[in-house]
Amino acid sequence: MKKLGLYVHIPFCQQKCFYCDFPSFAGQEAFYASYTRALVREIVDQGACHSAETVDTLFIGGGTPTVLPLPLLAEICQVICQSFQVADDAEWTIEANPGTVDAEELYQLRKLGINRLSFGVQSFDEGLLRRLGRIHTVQTAICSVEQAQAAGFSNLSIDLMTGLPGQTLEQLQHTLEEAAKLPLRHLSVYALKVEEGTAFAVDEQAGHLHLPDEALDAAMDDFVVSFLSKQGFSRYEISNYAQKGFACRHNLKYWHYQPYVGLGAAAHSFLNGRRQANTPDIAAYIAAMTKGQSAVIFSETLGGAEARGEMIFLALRTTAGLLFHDYAKQFNRNFLQDYENILVNLRQQGLICQNKQGISLTNLGMKFGNVVFRTFLP
Ligand code: SF4
Repeated sequence: MKKLGLYVHIPFCQQKCFYCDFPSFAGQEAFYASYTRALVREIVDQGACHSAETVDTLFIGGGTPTVLPLPLLAEICQVICQSFQVADDAEWTIEANPGTVDAEELYQLRKLGINRLSFGVQSFDEGLLRRLGRIHTVQTAICSVEQAQAAGFSNLSIDLMTGLPGQTLEQLQHTLEEAAKLPLRHLSVYALKVEEGTAFAVDEQAGHLHLPDEALDAAMDDFVVSFLSKQGFSRYEISNYAQKGFACRHNLKYWHYQPYVGLGAAAHSFLNGRRQANTPDIAAYIAAMTKGQSAVIFSETLGGAEARGEMIFLALRTTAGLLFHDYAKQFNRNFLQDYENILVNLRQQGLICQNKQGISLTNLGMKFGNVVFRTFLP
């Protein structure tokens, strides 16, 4: 039976963080119930279209899914299980913000079948949390992770950030040391990118952001890799680290060019080489679902060199890299013949390494991933 990933988007947050350009909105409580009804309708419809597939990974992301009242989250989970064939050993993740779930809710989420929890923590420095516009304190973050463990979650992850305004190497070291004390299996560590339309973009324009310089950014990157590896967390993707056996199976689907269905406003799907996205507009999404119409506003099927380039750069984000036989299986072509000249250049620059099975980024290549990815795109 074919395997399928499911992504469910909950586009609500308690407050908008200053750096965030994700499709998430604060102050939309009035939509919680109607959004859930619309989502349930899409889950049922899509379940009927995928009755021949087994869902082996599910990811409820956002936004902050745990701002939804528990009965609504429970309804979503129950309808997923009734509408799709969910494998007994499926990885089922939910994202949460510290302080948006209490001990009892965590216990109930675990009982619903969710077995992996990812907290957005970003930093264990109070000043930086305030600078980011986060809703929680350091203590709340620590307490939430510990409560999740007590509720039965043994697969816990947190997100952290580097390259923050005013951030020092010492602050990053302290943050990683605090993280290392927690019962975590996985960490995502993202470098801040100032996105258009965010409060940080306004600050940057006004000259008030004070970001670390390139040398400090590079030092932070090196420090993260070396510190986490000493703690038993291997880097398996540019921004992701896990103990053995705890890489996020759902996210690996994105990088391995495997199919997934996205449900909810702004959710993306990838099926049979076709990418599509639902409208990010919550009211428009609800209206479409209520009328039994499609919420898809974007759809494209990549072909030829574009599709090949996309598969290559997604695979190269992982430390396992691109395997020649995966490429041959997907496109019925020979990778080494297709990209001979490019490979010579990238090897000479020290950006990739190559063996009999495939290619992957070197440590230097990880720092300049975008340079490598561009060379494979037409
Ligand atoms: S909690 Fe996450 S999704 Fe919500 S605004 Fe902050 S960063 Fe964005």
